[in-house]
Amino acid sequence: MSKATRPNLLGLNPDKLTALLEGMGEKPYRARQLLRWMHRRGVVDFGAMTDISKPFRERLARETLLAPPELASRHDAGDGCVKWIVRVASGSSVEMVYIPDAGRGTLCVSSQAGCILDCSFCATGKQGFDSNLTAAEIIGQLWLARRELGSFENGDGPPVTNVVFMGMGEPLLNFDNVMDAVDLMLDDYAYGLSKRRVTISTAGVVPGIERMRERTDVALAISLHAPNDELRGELVPLNRKYPIATLLDAARSYSSGLGENREPFVEYTLIRGVNDHRRHARELAELLRDFPCKINLIPFNEFSEVAYRRPSATSISNFRKILQDGGFTVTVRSTRADEIAAACGQLVGAVRDQTRRRERVPRQGEAANPTARLIHGGRGDCRQAAGPQGSAR
Ligand code: SF4
Repeated sequence: MSKATRPNLLGLNPDKLTALLEGMGEKPYRARQLLRWMHRRGVVDFGAMTDISKPFRERLARETLLAPPELASRHDAGDGCVKWIVRVASGSSVEMVYIPDAGRGTLCVSSQAGCILDCSFCATGKQGFDSNLTAAEIIGQLWLARRELGSFENGDGPPVTNVVFMGMGEPLLNFDNVMDAVDLMLDDYAYGLSKRRVTISTAGVVPGIERMRERTDVALAISLHAPNDELRGELVPLNRKYPIATLLDAARSYSSGLGENREPFVEYTLIRGVNDHRRHARELAELLRDFPCKINLIPFNEFSEVAYRRPSATSISNFRKILQDGGFTVTVRSTRADEIAAACGQLVGAVRDQTRRRERVPRQGEAANPTARLIHGGRGDCRQAAGPQGSAR
């Protein structure tokens, strides 16, 4: 069997792995053994899996693959944050960031190479879109992070306790692969993370939120960024298809099925002179009056492609106070890992743009030309947020 046609076991969720092994004539417990070796111990050499018979290990090596994505580079910040650039099979590169904080470690992962949604404040969107990541490329980011940090079983490195889908791409537009990876994140024989500590953040793909209800119970974050449809339509073009009321309904419906204290997180990137005025805060408080949630305010991190600016500290403080006075729990994201360009809005990817967006809309000072399709530089940060658990980039 050629390598190209062999299934990559790393990305198979427990059900799919069990089904594959049963098809090979093995008992279900084999799947649990393999999950432990791959995801708890970080072993990807079949020969080292000593509690599996030698003939079956040899068969696995002939008929399957165990292949994490390739790490292109690593960048360490003085504050403990780490950014990695990961090569994916399509030829693009994506980024992931580790953010340690008191008692926890959050990994921000990517779900797509580029993004089709083109939010006006997002450099990932400006890069265009290449491809969905496979489930192996998504869970492979967590696998690589644990290897790099030395935090597989028996390792003494810092743990990854939280995962947020806030890297490159819109996770609900790569639904099946993201969900398979989430299954592995939660599975006790794999990563065993709490469902409260895995967060899917969406720009507002309403059908995806509705599908989540049938498929998972992890945390949900919605990227709002504006208190009304007119302004949101400028910042997040997807709003023209799924306006705010529809999005809030879907999020409410999802969260109501999760139980107590599982309200969604609302992310709001504050951009100077665009959506950071006190009247916007009051409008937001009114909009969310009957929508139980926690609000993350994310001061915009500037990058060269757009003219948006970060708000003043006073504007941020005023905005926060109005929301708090309205009874909301509000956090303001602090910038982390600035020196390695891994703060909110500073991630760098290299996307082979299949949409030719870059040719049609070149950056300021950059001629439109085909070589611009392989891009270096950009936000790679879906929603300028590091997650509802309060860690910050
Ligand atoms: S903010 Fe998120 S959804 Fe919008 S373009 Fe960027 S990556 Fe895509």
